[in-house]
Amino acid sequence: MDLTQEEIIWIDSQLDEILDTCQRCKDEQDKELIKKAFDLAKTAHSKMRRKSGEPYITHPIGVAKIVAAEIGLGAKSVVCALLHDIVEDTDYTLQDIEKLFGPTIKNIIDGLTKISNVLDKDASLQVENFRKMLLTLSEDVRVIFIKLADRLHNMRTLDAMPEYKQIKISGETTYLYAPLAHRLGLYSIKTELEDLALKYEHPLIYNEISNKFKESEEEREKYIHQIIQPLIKELKEYNIDCNITGRPKSIYSIWNKMQQKNVPFEEIYDLFAIRIIFKPKRGLKEKQQAYNIFSIITNIYVYHGDRIRDWITTPKANGYEALHVTVMGPLGKWIEIQIRSERMDEVAEKGYAAHWKYKENSKNGSSSLDNWLQTIREQLFDKSEDALDFLDEFKLNLFSAEIYLFTPKGHLKRLPKGATVIDFAYEIHTEIGDKAIAAKVNHNLQPLSYQLESGDQVEILTSEKQSPKREWIDFAITSKAKSKIKSALKEERLYSVNKGQQIFISKVKELGLTINHKKLKELREQYHATNKEEFYRKIGLGIIQLDDLEKQLNKKDANILKKYWTLEFIRKPKSLDNKKINTRETFLIQNTSNKNNYTLATCCNPIPGDEVVGFININNSVIIHKKNCNILTKLAAKQGNRIVSVKWSLEKKLSFIAQIKIEGFDKPGLLFNITKVFYQEGNINMKSINFQSNDGIFSGIIELFIHDTMDLDNLSKKIIRVKGIKSVIRIEEEKE
Ligand code: MN
Repeated sequence: MDLTQEEIIWIDSQLDEILDTCQRCKDEQDKELIKKAFDLAKTAHSKMRRKSGEPYITHPIGVAKIVAAEIGLGAKSVVCALLHDIVEDTDYTLQDIEKLFGPTIKNIIDGLTKISNVLDKDASLQVENFRKMLLTLSEDVRVIFIKLADRLHNMRTLDAMPEYKQIKISGETTYLYAPLAHRLGLYSIKTELEDLALKYEHPLIYNEISNKFKESEEEREKYIHQIIQPLIKELKEYNIDCNITGRPKSIYSIWNKMQQKNVPFEEIYDLFAIRIIFKPKRGLKEKQQAYNIFSIITNIYVYHGDRIRDWITTPKANGYEALHVTVMGPLGKWIEIQIRSERMDEVAEKGYAAHWKYKENSKNGSSSLDNWLQTIREQLFDKSEDALDFLDEFKLNLFSAEIYLFTPKGHLKRLPKGATVIDFAYEIHTEIGDKAIAAKVNHNLQPLSYQLESGDQVEILTSEKQSPKREWIDFAITSKAKSKIKSALKEERLYSVNKGQQIFISKVKELGLTINHKKLKELREQYHATNKEEFYRKIGLGIIQLDDLEKQLNKKDANILKKYWTLEFIRKPKSLDNKKINTRETFLIQNTSNKNNYTLATCCNPIPGDEVVGFININNSVIIHKKNCNILTKLAAKQGNRIVSVKWSLEKKLSFIAQIKIEGFDKPGLLFNITKVFYQEGNINMKSINFQSNDGIFSGIIELFIHDTMDLDNLSKKIIRVKGIKSVIRIEEEKE
């Protein structure tokens, strides 16, 4: 059906709307590009309508707006959003796209078309789909962002779909898209996807919760007001510029909690969180300001010592930063307070897109998009900490019996659980397997027997000199690897036997001898081979040399043959550093020339100013211990010749980590007064801080970056003067 005049006017007005919402498409070239894509999409989809009866172009427009405004991507992504359904649904081809918009945009559209083919068409193949989705990720992460925007727009307009489709699409959304959005730090999109999916999957539950939520709204608003008012007043007194709100939790998260705790709606108390978003002051670190606000809060509300979550010191894998604390509110209910700077808030809402924006402002902008995409890729494949949480969820559901691994180029290989490096090598290619010597697993060197885990990226190192070894069979677990190793061994064996026999025969001929069976038996016994085959094989492999064959044929003394069995395995150990450390000279601990030549012992954590002694380890590196360290005493007793006197060099100020423990009586303002001491000490930085309060007794551990013992003494003296503090001690031993 052709477009009506009214529709045409509306559609034409949308180009400006898109350009307005796109913060990052400000130059003329960007605008031109978007206009070109807009016109193409309009023409290509002109005869199509959605299930709702609306012109089809409303969908690409909607997706483009989400991409621009809610995710914060740039012009290329907006173009791809506008064109994302063209290749699939119209006569235009990828070649057309490439001609008009170039290879990058073509590749993204290609990725989007492929991904919708695997994800949307057949939901029963989810394992395979997921894998393909991951594969696409390694090509261009923008594909995932645009796909998420596409899904969000489809979810927002799901009403027009028949019920069975609503349920299918919602299922995929909870299963795949919401976790992905979460993983990319797109918090608002994740929440909206979850809520919409719940609405279609469980309409009764959704309606019940949202009705009850509305019914209790007035009461809740009053309560939030009651909590916030004193906070506003107090924070104002300390000149903190901030915005405090009570944020309702999402319907989905309430439902989740009801299920987890198996309680009705009425028993869910934390239907909201208090959020304090502050405008950071210049010159003070955001983290310090967040803690400052926290300590001001404790002037009013008692806090829960076990429920302080410092996502600033260690941000979540998806980039989230904030300080979460739980306080006892009026009416005896615990309330969560989230403290964020304006920047942290934007990161929390828009995820990596916002991260990137802040980075771009501070550095050169041209390559930062690539950096940003790289970060996401790294985050997605990062095995450390909880970065793989979301993949783990899938793994639990789908990959219980198999693991998925990546080649250095990001290609996915699937192996049974328990597979080792050698299995992976043979999975790639028989030749790679045969020549494998070790692997780099997530950039760390690992042996062939190393057991791989889901998500590992594996690079096989090979050597032309390598050949399959019998012991490989013991740790290979795939039948493919095992059979390849066995046949290679057999082949190798056969080859060596033949070769050995030939060498032997020609040697015998050379000497003009004839060897009968008896003589051969004698000979192989002299050479310690249990049978003829082994004898030939050892010759073939060069283990048995026949240089003195003539002598051997005449002499029967087996002892002489022993030398053939002394394989050259004994090599001189290599010294890591040629310059041996002289124990008679004082070793200088300095930052520059011999940086790698010393480490600070973790048993006693010495810092400059401490009395220290060095212990030279077998790698010719000096371990710095405190003089009174127990471990050092033991080492000195056993290996006194390795002790060297050391001295702190004062040429440069280095930072060292030290821990202090503070104890005292908890009283309002205490935390604030302690943190104030730190702000006043300009050259001391906190690394982490951990406070607890129990029955009025306050205790805390602070990790600091300091330069020397003088710094620490000064600081301790100042902290002990804070009212309520009973003791400040340096913790010297690491926790066991
Ligand atoms: Mn679409």
